[in-house]
Amino acid sequence: MAKEELECSFCGRKKPETNLLIAGLDAHICDRCIEQAHGIVLEESKQTDSSDLSAELKLRKPQQIKAFLDEYIIGQDMTKKVMSVAVYNHYKRLLQPPTKDDIEIQKSNIIMVGQTGTGKTLMAKTVARMLNVPLAIVDATVLTEAGYVGEDVESILTRLLQAADYNLEKAEKGIVFIDEIDKIARKSDNPSITRDVSGEGVQQALLKLLEGTVVNVPPKGGRKHPDQKFIEVNTENILFIAGGAFDGIERVISKRLNMQAVGYSASMSDDVVDQNHLLQYIIPKDLKDFGLIPEIIGRLPVLTYMDPLDAKTLRAILTEPKNAIIKQYKKLFDMDNIEFSITDGALDFIVGKAIEYKLGARGLRSLCEEILTDAMFELPSSNENKLNVTKIYAESKLTKTTIKKLKAVS
Ligand code: ADP
Repeated sequence: MAKEELECSFCGRKKPETNLLIAGLDAHICDRCIEQAHGIVLEESKQTDSSDLSAELKLRKPQQIKAFLDEYIIGQDMTKKVMSVAVYNHYKRLLQPPTKDDIEIQKSNIIMVGQTGTGKTLMAKTVARMLNVPLAIVDATVLTEAGYVGEDVESILTRLLQAADYNLEKAEKGIVFIDEIDKIARKSDNPSITRDVSGEGVQQALLKLLEGTVVNVPPKGGRKHPDQKFIEVNTENILFIAGGAFDGIERVISKRLNMQAVGYSASMSDDVVDQNHLLQYIIPKDLKDFGLIPEIIGRLPVLTYMDPLDAKTLRAILTEPKNAIIKQYKKLFDMDNIEFSITDGALDFIVGKAIEYKLGARGLRSLCEEILTDAMFELPSSNENKLNVTKIYAESKLTKTTIKKLKAVS
């Protein structure tokens, strides 16, 4: 074929009419057709993405969602159950085509109350992993009202967009985990604080986001890049999960329970109240008394609590979850053909130290790291092909100073 007769095999344009003509085995394609084809590929992959989500949910009923959570998270059965139902309902709502009746299913945003290190973030991460949706983890303490030093609430959505690789459609079905929500509680009871910049104002700013609205989001984050184009993000189908330690809320709960016991002498006082575990009695009103505004509480309708971690749970966290810490070390040593084992005595010792120094579940990892660093440094270049960590070995690697150091960073 003469050179000037070359043409695009898709649209028929002659070579001079194109900017670029790429040759294949028996065919040619022009730049315009490549662009069009690229558009089709993107469109197709978007469609499969959303049908992926619906397939995922059709396959997993609440009990199966809980079973998935069980693989990664020890205990916290109540929250897992509540979470499974809330997540199921939330995605059922968003996958449902619009119906003719006027019944509008409300969003099931969630709020988890529990000490730090009890697995709140892990819970949100695991749900996002299961659904394969983007997750943004944000800290409420850095948020401020627009115009103050700190981040505007829209920055939450910037993070979600980033987590979704700027795929708007994915971001709009994603999950946002707002940590330390208790830190933006209203502080007006405290007379020393005259200007409540980071408290109620932020709660007000969050309201619209939680409920569902279209927000102009600066894709690279707010104030550093003032010239960027905004992306409109609709938050209607974004699932918000809030978490917080709510230090001292037990007192609020206890006070309420006592008052109830006086008011309705037959009701509460007849039930035995477990004073050591008051969080299980938490109700939305307690959050209000703690300083969350009623509108925020209304938009986080699913309230649940996390149990504090006892020795048995900590011990299980070390070895049982799918990616348990000990399993990870085993894999690391395996890669160097070193057979790693650890005795029950050593595991109990680690748990004991985590409890004694109040290091929580996060401390387990740091304790293991301290105990195993020497071995991980030395063994790969030695002829040893076995490491058995006993209680004595663990004790020898953990001096008082190392524990103090861990305590300082935890
Ligand atoms: P929180 O958000 O409540 O402060 P995290 O979810 O960040 O706590 O937990 C800290 C770490 O402790 C997690 O990375 C996880 O490894 C571990 N952990 C905490 N609770 C559990 C649990 N119930 N099951 C398994 N691991 C847990």
